[in-house]
Amino acid sequence: VANIVLREYQLTAIAELRTALAAPASSAVLVLPTGAGKTTVAAELTRLMVARGGTVWFVAHLQELVSQARARMEAFGLSVGEIGPQKEVARRLERPVQCCMVQSLSVALRTGQIPAHRLPTFIFFDEGHHTAAGTYQRVIDAAPLARRIGLTATPYRLDGKALGEWYQAMVEPITIGELMDAGHLVRAHYALAEVDLEGLGERGGDYAADQAFKKFNKRQLYAGTVTQYENHAPGEKAICFCINVEHSLATVQAFNERGIAAAHLDGSTPLAQRKRVLEEFAAGRWQVLSNVALFTEGFDLPNISCVILNRPTKSKALYLQMGGRGLRPSPGKSRCLIIDMGGNVKAHSFLDTPAEHSLEPAKKKKGATVGVRPMKMCKSCGLWDPISFTACGACGAAYPIEVAKQEEVTFTVVTDTRQFLPPAVKKRQRFKALPPELEGVSPWQWTAEQWAQVRVLSGYKRGWESHQLEWQKMHGPEAEGRVAA
Ligand SMILES: [Zn+2]
Repeated sequence: VANIVLREYQLTAIAELRTALAAPASSAVLVLPTGAGKTTVAAELTRLMVARGGTVWFVAHLQELVSQARARMEAFGLSVGEIGPQKEVARRLERPVQCCMVQSLSVALRTGQIPAHRLPTFIFFDEGHHTAAGTYQRVIDAAPLARRIGLTATPYRLDGKALGEWYQAMVEPITIGELMDAGHLVRAHYALAEVDLEGLGERGGDYAADQAFKKFNKRQLYAGTVTQYENHAPGEKAICFCINVEHSLATVQAFNERGIAAAHLDGSTPLAQRKRVLEEFAAGRWQVLSNVALFTEGFDLPNISCVILNRPTKSKALYLQMGGRGLRPSPGKSRCLIIDMGGNVKAHSFLDTPAEHSLEPAKKKKGATVGVRPMKMCKSCGLWDPISFTACGACGAAYPIEVAKQEEVTFTVVTDTRQFLPPAVKKRQRFKALPPELEGVSPWQWTAEQWAQVRVLSGYKRGWESHQLEWQKMHGPEAEGRVAA
């Protein structure tokens, strides 16, 4: 067994998961941000389960994730079989741990290739926010007595269904902000562009890609993306997330035209070419690597210090996945720059803004900005910080603080005065005529005689002024113990 030392929060996660899973057929979701080592937690927990005679399936939807999990489990001294498209299912089924592609596992179950006595006592679902998908449901139905552990960095679903439908407990041992504080992740700095998302339609819970492309396929927007990179992260390794392949190719062209070496990859890029481009990227041949959604999950990337969000998304999970790709620490890296061309930081807040996660369905929010931390731009470097910062998180320049305070004072005084004005003034009733000596004098200071004068000149009924006087006596400055000006 390799000498692997688990971090404090990883041990906490394991202890809490074991408590949550103590009952038969129980289930729990483990929320760990990208880069916190969820596979390590899964491997150690698996080791403990197997030591007590348990059998474990680790289920994922991408071959990369299955391979990573298998390597990790083997590093923990476990004997691992694999259920995937090219594997003969029955052969290594006697091993206590199976790393499975969900599609292949689902087929194997349906076609009776897995006998009942080989069903596991525990099932891990990697990227547990996908649990609603039909293939996952088939696995759950086939092994109803297995205890389930969902692993996710983002316990949100676009369709509004809650993970509580599949998991009874939630374990969340550490947040992105705490991982940054501990140095396990680097901090993010933010360069934000003005964006117009007016009238963009929705499809499948996110912005309709064709409409978004139409809006973003503009010369000045491509140029703006390149300029942000040149201004804030020149020469740094960056990955760029685009709306569709056409958008990604045009973005790459815009970078290349300005002398910045950029390349594009997508799901249809042949594996050999994909591997070669990634190696070239690691070696420094390319500065910017553009894609659509290839790099969101389970994709091993060289160390990057800049993430370009060249698209809008309504999905907080997708936003965190994209931004989270740049937070892994590496020698000489002090921060990750997030260049946001799609209004995502304003819609979803900063990557490390504390979020309350729940297994219950999310309550419908009235606007995209509800609950988002207010932010401000540093005049020295042009990057953005939470409103509470007294100095810029990127360049250290001090923020001026007196503006908000002044506004607050003015607001209080205005409210106070309006509240206690006589009815005639409060209702913004126009005095049809005022005697010249009352022009500019506060109604609080008018005498009974002067109120009567105003009544006569305005043509109001007799008795009007006594009503105003009564109010003045009850609520006026003297009644409140204040000294009239
Ligand atoms: Zn600054």
